[in-house]
Amino acid sequence: MNDKPKLLDVRIYGDAILGKIAKPVETFDDELRSFVRDMVYTMYQRDGVGLAAPQVGQSVRIFVMDTQWSKEEGKPNPTVLINPELLSGEGDYEIEEGCISVPGIYARVKRFNKISYSYLDLDKKRHEAEAEGYDAVVFQHEFDHLNGVLFVDRLSKLPLLKIKRKLKALQSTAENGVNIRSEIYGKQVSSKE
Ligand SMILES: [Zn+2]
Repeated sequence: MNDKPKLLDVRIYGDAILGKIAKPVETFDDELRSFVRDMVYTMYQRDGVGLAAPQVGQSVRIFVMDTQWSKEEGKPNPTVLINPELLSGEGDYEIEEGCISVPGIYARVKRFNKISYSYLDLDKKRHEAEAEGYDAVVFQHEFDHLNGVLFVDRLSKLPLLKIKRKLKALQSTAENGVNIRSEIYGKQVSSKE
């Protein structure tokens, strides 16, 4: 485990894996630890506040998030959520969302404002937590990835119509249902989950 973390390829809109329901994690071993470490590394390298396993080509129920992190402050404090569950949700909250799997597209999505959730950590210990506002949005965005749902799938007709051409363009670059973007993106100002 002394080797350097790897930058994982990110799957892009149009890739079949992003639409699949991910499988629960059953084995908690060094391989899992190493994969999660690569996910965390990739999330920061991609300037994201969250990253779900299907986005890097593994259809398993894991995501990592760090809503406090910013490049400028630079104090990473990632949370690893394995087999997470959304226990309750209330209220409405919406902000402009983006996704490193849907580059260049931003839209407002209606989410719960307050949620409670559970997850396992790398030692298979169960945690329960609550989140509100932005943190709750990031959880819901990442949790959706585990169920094959992207933020653009939650848009109503009119906002969807506005971005349809851009989505088609992303989709058309997929080969055999696989759509990988491995170069580093240019820095974008909007928040990306
Ligand atoms: Zn996303």
